[in-house]
Amino acid sequence: MARPKILIIYTGGTIGMIEDPNTHSLKPFDFTHLIDNVPKIRKLDYEIDNIQFHPPIDSSNMDTERWIEIAANIADNYAEYDGFVVLHGTDTMAYTASALSFMLENLHKPVIITGSQLPIGEVRTDGEENLITALQIAAATDSHGDPMVQEVAILFEDYLWRGNRSTKMSADYFNAFKSNNYPYLAKIGLDIQFYKDRLLRNNAHRPLKVQYNMDRNIMLFSIFPGMTESTLRHALNTPDIKGIVLRTYGAGNAPTYDWFIKAIHEAVERGIVIINVTQCVNGGVNTERYVTGCAMSEAGVISGGDITIEAATTKLMYLFGMGLDSEQVKNYLNCSLSGEVTI
Ligand code: ASP
Repeated sequence: MARPKILIIYTGGTIGMIEDPNTHSLKPFDFTHLIDNVPKIRKLDYEIDNIQFHPPIDSSNMDTERWIEIAANIADNYAEYDGFVVLHGTDTMAYTASALSFMLENLHKPVIITGSQLPIGEVRTDGEENLITALQIAAATDSHGDPMVQEVAILFEDYLWRGNRSTKMSADYFNAFKSNNYPYLAKIGLDIQFYKDRLLRNNAHRPLKVQYNMDRNIMLFSIFPGMTESTLRHALNTPDIKGIVLRTYGAGNAPTYDWFIKAIHEAVERGIVIINVTQCVNGGVNTERYVTGCAMSEAGVISGGDITIEAATTKLMYLFGMGLDSEQVKNYLNCSLSGEVTI
């Protein structure tokens, strides 16, 4: 049997950082330093190659161009490798995972994103274990010899999560990620226990298709008690804006003041697509439950159901990036494209 062939794409993040001797703050460092700190990797009987960002970045500096770079690296090497491991900072990892899940259409191979809370050079680092487990997941096959994971997923500490369902939950703990509305895809213990019925299965005969355009004219707006009409109107009148993720209360509720509904309705009439996503970490939008939710639907706001803000934001970027008009975008928001929402 051929050895599994895995490509590591190192973008940066805490996992490969070192301390700046002057400021004592952590800054990204190169891949050789990272890999030298994981000698155990040689015990895996895999063929491992790598590509690294020049320079590696803190993921707070992640943007659409970098997503395109990661997607292109995967597409260019797709036929040659069995799986891909993306090393990434935790701060925007869930956005990248969501974006890639849309950009990489018909994905049939694993794209496992991981990083760590402590740099790999530190004694108590979580990076070594995360990297090794991510490589093992990227190499895992099912009883037919097909890739076990055929989607973009985040591996962190004890769990494998669907990428576009994940959110960073903790700045302190090793189990930093969670998908609040979808169960884990695998549990990491003595063995890696996969839950096959939760994993996405794409048609293996369809070739990988990559969407390289992500439209950045998207906004995230959180409502809050005491918000003024001028703040809201200012946001809704942002030049060139095409889509807004509106973060509402509870089950998708928002104020029913006349000025609020009128401003939202006018924006919808101008062709801006507004998707309703709850501020709650768990559960989703059900606008029929309260009058304050019904008003949102009547104003033309699309329900985001149980989608995360990361997935909603990147889905709008992806759909507008395809050149779709507002009505087409709204139709796609009501569908699950890669397991990001419960329909
Ligand atoms: N600021 C870091 C980053 O996102 C945090 C981390 O990697 O955990 O790049």
